[in-house]
Amino acid sequence: MTVADDVRSLALVGGTLIDGNGGTALSDATLIVRGNRIVWVGPAREAQVPDDATTVDTRGKWILPGLIDSHVHIGTSGGGNANPAEFAQATLASNLKSYLVFGVTSIMDMGGQPHLDAIASKIAYQELLGPRLFGVRYGVTAPESHPIGLLREFGALEKMGSHFLQVDDAETARALVRRIATEHPAGLKIYHSRTEFPGTMCLDCNRDKLRPEVLAALLDEGHAQGLRVFAHIAYPSEAREVVLAGADVLAHPITHAESGVDEVTELMVERGVMMHSTLTRVEAYFGLMVNPFAREMLRGKVADTVLDGLALPRSVVLARHTRSGVTEDARRILETTMANVRRANEAGVTIVMGTDSGGAGGFHGACVPREMELLNECGLTPMAVIVAATRNAARSLGMSDELGTLEATKLADVAILDADPLQRTSHIRQVSAILKDGMLIDVAQISVNEGVSRVG
Ligand SMILES: [Zn+2]
Repeated sequence: MTVADDVRSLALVGGTLIDGNGGTALSDATLIVRGNRIVWVGPAREAQVPDDATTVDTRGKWILPGLIDSHVHIGTSGGGNANPAEFAQATLASNLKSYLVFGVTSIMDMGGQPHLDAIASKIAYQELLGPRLFGVRYGVTAPESHPIGLLREFGALEKMGSHFLQVDDAETARALVRRIATEHPAGLKIYHSRTEFPGTMCLDCNRDKLRPEVLAALLDEGHAQGLRVFAHIAYPSEAREVVLAGADVLAHPITHAESGVDEVTELMVERGVMMHSTLTRVEAYFGLMVNPFAREMLRGKVADTVLDGLALPRSVVLARHTRSGVTEDARRILETTMANVRRANEAGVTIVMGTDSGGAGGFHGACVPREMELLNECGLTPMAVIVAATRNAARSLGMSDELGTLEATKLADVAILDADPLQRTSHIRQVSAILKDGMLIDVAQISVNEGVSRVG
């Protein structure tokens, strides 16, 4: 027997297929996988299912590309950051499994994650059960500028500081980018912002942004090295500056102020600049205050260590989110952000689903369906929401040839739902199984509270 003969085939037969391209769904469809690749997609009546294929009856189910969360921070757990266990390997393993539970088969780490290679290789060798992992590896910012103050507050500067590079002149900036490029990251992340926390707390909002010549050097060298450039911004002026400098993706919508947004939006459409949605990041500042029971609804899907960490005495969520003025301010910021996303979508900006999970209160995996519901509230149709989390997300990663749509030759990453996500976006919560790299996993069998990566 040759090695090729040993590759197993699998057929999902009879479901309604949403391929991620945004066209009409195909009812009574068949999708055939061989090994970890999709080999055929089409009407069930035309399918030639190999005799030796494992056939899975998907009648009454919806088949879509595995979701992609394009903006996460797996270095932190999304809990209260009050308990050392939240930073332990076992919790990381749980957080990765939570993504699968919610139908997410790829994630992009957007912060300096020093252990990216080790984690990715453990996933590849199935020592950890988790989604495909992409990452920018490093973040580049101006001296003491965002997110340095934030990392300091989390006590994370020592753990992650080596991967947040502070730069103040063009020549050093170019050298840094060349060094980063040797590690083949999935993009170059730059911070160009005076981001502040809702309420009155200033972490690094009084720091300088990247100077124009440094910004220009980062973008130019990034592109020269073949890297897609992701820019963290908050204000219209910051967005305008990075777009004019050539940024490829805004890592957030414009969260602060609405005036001046239309001009930036127009520029983004003209230049094909994409935008991460990250709405749950803002909602996390007050969501748990408004609905404390949400935490209990996530039991079994998000690790207990993470959920319980929120209520511990030193919890960052308790300390920051309950301060006076935070809830009102965060609500106002969310309103502004959603208005800006609505305008960007109407103007034709490519919206990419990303949650920014990992910050205090931003749960890995669980934020994804919520992010999609909020995008729907911003005026994206249920189909457009799915495209944002599949095809567009794959494009933003430069992975369109491999991921994001259900087409022959692509990697076999699939989410199987029990309810129609085109009828109601919240049906995206009803994940029954996934295919990850061709492997069928019943999500009810994933135990997020076990440190070991056991299935079934
Ligand atoms: Zn982020």
